Amino acid sequence: MKLHRTITKYIKASLFVFLSLTLLLSDVSRAEKLKVVTTFTIIADITKNITGDLAIVESITKPGAEIHNYQPTPRDIIKAQDADLIIHNGMGLELWFDQFYDSLDEVPIVLATKGIEPIGISTGPYNGKPNPHAWMAMDSARAYVKNITEALIEYDESNSKQYQENAENYILKIEGVLLPLSKKIDIINPKERWLVTSEGAFSYLARDLGLNELFIWPINADQQGSPKQVKNVIDSINKNGIKVIFSESTISPKPAQQIARETNISYGGILYVDSLTELDGPVPTYLDLLAITYSTVIKGLTAQ
Ligand SMILES: [Zn+2]
Repeated sequence: MKLHRTITKYIKASLFVFLSLTLLLSDVSRAEKLKVVTTFTIIADITKNITGDLAIVESITKPGAEIHNYQPTPRDIIKAQDADLIIHNGMGLELWFDQFYDSLDEVPIVLATKGIEPIGISTGPYNGKPNPHAWMAMDSARAYVKNITEALIEYDESNSKQYQENAENYILKIEGVLLPLSKKIDIINPKERWLVTSEGAFSYLARDLGLNELFIWPINADQQGSPKQVKNVIDSINKNGIKVIFSESTISPKPAQQIARETNISYGGILYVDSLTELDGPVPTYLDLLAITYSTVIKGLTAQ
């Protein structure tokens, strides 16, 4: 009997220790969620879709912000220094990033565009450099998700299965948005397949939809809407019989609207490319951004 009581006591004590440890460990894991900082809202949203609640994900630039020439604040440095991982786009998108990263002390860095075949910029002072807006096309969207998932798994192996599963579901959602919209381009007369915008941010989208690309300035880091840039676009519109021009959410639509007036063509509205909006805006997620931008382009071209 005495032995039996001792064993029971031992089992109870072990159970108590086991339960306490389990609780303690789950507390630790909650407190030690992976913290990921990204340079802009689109990469943050892609990352959140892969992590779900398993990580803390923050963007340095805010919804609606201009992202190429952003000026980081001391608070951004503190935020990034505290991260387990920083994810950036690269390809020259974030002109501020190298200097910003140099001011940090040993935070691991991940390139979201690894392995993507860049489309070059063909005019202006950035001639020959890669066009950095690769997230606007299906194949490169797959590469962003793959690169980010691999990085998350490398730095947070314990959640690898969930990250993998979320990534697969997310790819299906992106395909669900882009593939049906891309097919709608077939009804547009090949001669009218022109995409005219303010920034030349749509090379990847234009390639996927088989559109000719024309823009007022090649990248927001460049001069925006100089008389020479405006004249070139007006000449091209007249020469090619183009009927619609668009602009983008993070810059002034005035040069594009001025061109629409001077050439007597339609202004097709705002395309979203560089930044998501706040939750109550039209594109709070990357899926919304793709859906609205692709739909606006197709609507603008088919309305003619
Ligand atoms: Zn841009």
